[in-house]
Amino acid sequence: MDLKQFELIYKENRVKIKDKSNIESKLETILGSNNYSTKDIDILAYSKDSTLIGFNWEIEGKVAGFADFITWPETVEQISEILKLANQEKIPVIPYGEGSGVVGGAIPIYGGIIIDMKKFNKVLVINEKNLTVTAEAGINGMNLERHLNAKGFTSGHIPQSLYTSSLGGWIAHRAAGQFSTKYGKIEDIILGLEVVLPLGEIINFKTIARASTGPQLDKLFIGGEGTLGVVTKATLKIWPYPEKRALISYVFPSIESSFDAVRKILREQIYPAVIRIYDKFETARHFPDIDAVKDKVMIIFLCEGTSQLVDLEEKITKEKCTRNSGIECGKGPVEHWLETRFRVTETSSMPPYKIVFDTLEVATLWDNAAEVYHLVLKSMNEFKGVLMTSAHVSHFYPNGVGIYFSFGGVPPKGTSDFKFYQECWDTTIKAVLDAGGSIAHHHGIGINRSHWMDKEWGVAMKTMRQIKKVLDPNNILNPGKIYLETWKRGEN
Ligand SMILES: Cc1cc2nc3c(=O)[nH]c(=O)nc-3n(C[C@H](O)[C@H](O)[C@H](O)COP(=O)(O)OP(=O)(O)OC[C@H]3O[C@@H](n4cnc5c(N)ncnc54)[C@H](O)[C@@H]3O)c2cc1C
Repeated sequence: MDLKQFELIYKENRVKIKDKSNIESKLETILGSNNYSTKDIDILAYSKDSTLIGFNWEIEGKVAGFADFITWPETVEQISEILKLANQEKIPVIPYGEGSGVVGGAIPIYGGIIIDMKKFNKVLVINEKNLTVTAEAGINGMNLERHLNAKGFTSGHIPQSLYTSSLGGWIAHRAAGQFSTKYGKIEDIILGLEVVLPLGEIINFKTIARASTGPQLDKLFIGGEGTLGVVTKATLKIWPYPEKRALISYVFPSIESSFDAVRKILREQIYPAVIRIYDKFETARHFPDIDAVKDKVMIIFLCEGTSQLVDLEEKITKEKCTRNSGIECGKGPVEHWLETRFRVTETSSMPPYKIVFDTLEVATLWDNAAEVYHLVLKSMNEFKGVLMTSAHVSHFYPNGVGIYFSFGGVPPKGTSDFKFYQECWDTTIKAVLDAGGSIAHHHGIGINRSHWMDKEWGVAMKTMRQIKKVLDPNNILNPGKIYLETWKRGEN
């Protein structure tokens, strides 16, 4: 295999490393001969994450970006040494969890050194009294959850990518699990962190239920997307494994009435672990066998916890749905979701048919949630080449929602897959901003959204870039993501 046969998508900023063999021998001194590689096959394996356009590229013989070295450190000190070396040599470093990110966050667009966190895979301690688990950041999500379940606990963080994502990746992208309405998102679950800063310093944020000790610096790294530090260890909240579950589903005449029902449930401080609203397009797609769903909006609920609590949550959930024009559909739709919730093959089956497909999640308050939903679908449907659009809503707060859009289409003649993809994204993001929403709910920024960050944050983005510069003066850690740097590596 020859890497030169692939066309590189992001090639403008690629760093030329002059004395590769010198760097290689320094990496060998830090890591030993088994924990790094420069083999083409490894370089190719780390040239992408799970960004869906990557499937289209693969078919066309294109690759997002190549790293120069792949490393698998085993200790925090080794990570610190790699970062010190990278600063001396001005080489980019890209932390890599399991590559399930969907915005290009782990793609080595500048080349450099990949730090794969795979060997940081241990559960270190479960404290049953404090209800905490401490684990290394490279641990696979399913392995962590299975370990907890075997001891009678759950972390409550169950993303659809549970089998293919890591604890560090969740923290880096501010992830949200399917059961998040009860247990919270990753930022609600993390209580303590260990991070290696870009210059190599190792810092530990103590595990504490809450503190009033000035600005909470640790929060900077939740959502840092591997640009401000490498997370090596974290302590998470855990909960006793639920004693009972109630499965409930209702259909509604419109997206507005479904929103009203959920909003009124949450106002009562009732938190079903899972709430999913499927718009009428997704309802038709997921539940074609149920007559009552035709042209309707389905909501599934899953309440869990102690028996008494679940009974109360079920009662109030049902009351609110009925009062807001809901028609009960039983347990079937929830059982269907439980069986299929980790199945994602339909998205990867489209590129061979030249279809460009992607999903995109955004956030908004309740008062403009319906507006964001309608405006985005309208803008997307007016876009030439788009064949389908739909949405579901699976993350809720008493104050607002995260809406998850899907689009698919075929680029018009003369437009490349990538251009079409970028334009579909930009159309959606613009519609969200116009309607007062936020450009990302839980997939992060990565490459796909970085050019919208100034619009999203306004002048605060200047401060964000200054923070990056203080922590990473040589801009070695995951360059090209989040900030769209205004300075180059090594320029102080
Ligand atoms: C089918 C599918 C379903 C998904 N479902 C969900 C879902 O339900 N909820 C959700 O939130 N997301 C979901 N995602 C997106 C993805 O799984 C998350 O973004 C996840 O958090 C990425 O974890 P990862 O370990 O794969 O990280 P990677 O993709 O390897 O990396 C993501 C980013 O994190 C950085 N990073 C990784 N590890 C570290 C570390 N230890 N320290 C510092 N930075 C690090 C990388 O540099 C990169 O910027 C889904 C993705 C797919 C493909």
